[in-house]
Amino acid sequence: MTTRGTAGTFARALLASAVLGLVLGIHPAHPADPSAAGAPAATAPAAGTPAAGTPAAGTPAASAPAPDATAAASTSPSAADLQRAYAILHAARFVDLTHAFGPDSPHWKGFAPESVTTLYTIARDGFHVDEFCHPGQWGTHVDPPAHFHDGLKTVDQIDPSQFLLPLVVLDVHTQVAHNPDYVVTMDDVRAWEAKHGSIPAGAFVALRTDWSKRWPDQAAMQNADAQGVLHYPGWSMAVLQYLYEQRHITASGHETTDTDPGVAVTRNDYSLESYVLGTNHFQIELLANLDQVPEAGALVMVSFPKPENGSGFPARVVAIVPRS
Ligand SMILES: [Zn+2]
Repeated sequence: MTTRGTAGTFARALLASAVLGLVLGIHPAHPADPSAAGAPAATAPAAGTPAAGTPAAGTPAASAPAPDATAAASTSPSAADLQRAYAILHAARFVDLTHAFGPDSPHWKGFAPESVTTLYTIARDGFHVDEFCHPGQWGTHVDPPAHFHDGLKTVDQIDPSQFLLPLVVLDVHTQVAHNPDYVVTMDDVRAWEAKHGSIPAGAFVALRTDWSKRWPDQAAMQNADAQGVLHYPGWSMAVLQYLYEQRHITASGHETTDTDPGVAVTRNDYSLESYVLGTNHFQIELLANLDQVPEAGALVMVSFPKPENGSGFPARVVAIVPRS
C-alpha cells in the first residue's frame, strides 16, 4: 500500500516533469553551472583539450533537436499549452530503453546476484510484498556523480528537470560487430554532426553498440577470453571531453556494464567513468533497445526513485520517438 502510493506519486511527478520539460524547452545546459564546478581534478584529464575541433561543416538536418527554438516559443506555458504538449507527447511512439532485472541479470564483475524474498502473499495475507536486495548499480541504472566522487551529487540531488532530454544516439554497432574492443571516436561524432547538426546542449547522448542484445547472458556481456581479459566496447576520453566540455550535454549512457571498455575494466581502470561523474553529471548504464530509436529527433525520459544520499539505483528510461 505504501508502495502503491509511492509509485503513484512517482508516476505523477514523472508526467509533470515530462510535460513541463517539453513546453518549457529542453533545458539547455549551463556551461557556467556552479554545480558542475569544483569537480575533483585527480582523475580529470590532463590539461590541454582534446582534438575536438569544429564539427564537420554539414548542414544541420531539419530533424535535429532544437531546444532553444522550443524555449523561445513558450517560456511561460499556460494550462492549454500543457494540454497540447501532453497530447503531442502521448501520440508519439514510446520505446522502453530499460531491461527488466532479476536475480540472474548481467552485472559488473564485482557484484553478487540479487535476492528477492517474498514477505507477504495474497493467499495468506491478502496482499503481496517482496523484499529486494541488490546493489544500487543493478539492472539498467543511474550512476550519480557521488558514485565516484565524494561531495558531488547523489541520486536524490539530481534535478528532475533533467528527466526529459533530447536524445542523441551515436551508432557504432557495425564497428563493434567487427571489433568488440571498439571505442567510439571523434570521427563517429563528426559523422553524426555532419548528418544532423551540432549535438544540442542539454542532450542525453547514448552509445549504441547493440551489446544489450547479449542480455541476459552474463558471460556473453562480459565476454572474457581464456586469460580473463574482458572484451566489450566503450567510450573514449576524446569523445567524452568533447560532449561534456564543448557540447555541454547533460548526461550520457551505454549498453554495457561500464563506461570504460572491457580491456580497461580488466585492469580496474575506470578513468572514463570517473571523468564523466567528475563533471557532476549522471550517466545511465545497461541501456536496451537503442536499435529501435532514431539517431536524432527523439526525446528521452529518464527516471529513478529517490534514495537519500543514494550512490546509484535502478532506473527506468523511455524514449519518445517521432512517428513521422
Ligand atoms: Zn554503473
